[in-house]
Amino acid sequence: MDTKAFKRSLQQSENYHRRGFGHQAEVSGVLNQEYQSNLIQTIREHNYTLTQGQVTIHLAQAFGFCWGVERAVAMAYETRQHFPKERIWITNEIIHNPSVNQRLKEMEVGFIPVKAGEKDFSVVESQDVVILPAFGASVEEMQLLNSKGCTIVDTTCPWVAKVWNSVEKHKKKDYTSIIHGKYNHEETIATSSFADKYLIVLNLEEAEYVAEYILNRKDKAEFLQRFAKACSPGFDPDLDLERVGIANQTTMLKNETEQIGKLFEHTMLKKYGPTALNEHFMSFNTICDATQERQDAMFELVEKELNLMVVIGGYNSSNTTHLQEIAQARGIPSYHIDSGDRIGPGNRVEHKPLGKDLEIKENWLPAGEITVGITSGASTPDKVVEEVIKKIFNLKS
Ligand code: SF4
Repeated sequence: MDTKAFKRSLQQSENYHRRGFGHQAEVSGVLNQEYQSNLIQTIREHNYTLTQGQVTIHLAQAFGFCWGVERAVAMAYETRQHFPKERIWITNEIIHNPSVNQRLKEMEVGFIPVKAGEKDFSVVESQDVVILPAFGASVEEMQLLNSKGCTIVDTTCPWVAKVWNSVEKHKKKDYTSIIHGKYNHEETIATSSFADKYLIVLNLEEAEYVAEYILNRKDKAEFLQRFAKACSPGFDPDLDLERVGIANQTTMLKNETEQIGKLFEHTMLKKYGPTALNEHFMSFNTICDATQERQDAMFELVEKELNLMVVIGGYNSSNTTHLQEIAQARGIPSYHIDSGDRIGPGNRVEHKPLGKDLEIKENWLPAGEITVGITSGASTPDKVVEEVIKKIFNLKS
């Protein structure tokens, strides 16, 4: 399918909007009130540190809402303002944050229902408005909505769109896109829908397995079984790994994406030699600045003497989970929570350890003076971080 031509024609349609509706001034006051925090602003102004009683808080120097998320949330609010009477739908959580998504529900922005694991778009009618979230939507979903004649408000982050452009370039030159991401993450699903041939690798270990296959063809059946859910239909590793381009889910660990890119570059160099490298390997820098900054700030934060770390963000938020991985790798007790409601009653916390279900930890705040590191994912409003800090102070007061 010519996805590029489709996107071009969609962008020219009068039903399609990818900029706001001129209500920025009206919604910015509401957004500030609902999501910003004076306490967090004060901590920022005091070198990201605050001591109250027995508790010292160190905030990461970059955390919380990234501009792509801020933009998407503002566009959703503007959409409500611009279409006060129309039914408004969103194809997925606009961002991975429960409080923001709850607020949208209160504004009567409906989520497309999911039946037996499939989204049911039959609810959408031509006079409805449909918002595409910050991490985008698949080409198939866009085509379906376009064919219904409804109004589409596209809040896809420009960084995500940049990755899609890379994938288009791979496709044009008949390269397979190797996507560093999670095969069932909405952003990766959307990105792979722009590719012709693709393979999704979760981490360096999977990438090494693929690189090894490229150099010494291993067991094809085993390969296909391992990537059954993570490759394009009819994928043939013996033919489709001769020319590869690198793409990424924008919220993956930056260092890992870079390592995976280098690994495939070296693999192709080894197999085809330096003069033919460009005919077998293609890579563009599509690592999002915001993800990079938050991860770098976390690496700095874990250098401090901390008793524990609190990582705040939606449980299905990829970039938040990666922040927790960094704390865990340093051996710092780290609690991933999605809101202040997870703390209490008393000195207990309900948190999600990496790769596990929610757990309750009693007496999670040690006695005496403590130093707590705090960060939050790109889809977490400052208000939620404030709530968490206040609860910690109260518990130790
Ligand atoms: S994390 Fe990066 S890619 Fe994702 S919405 Fe924010 S700015 Fe965009």
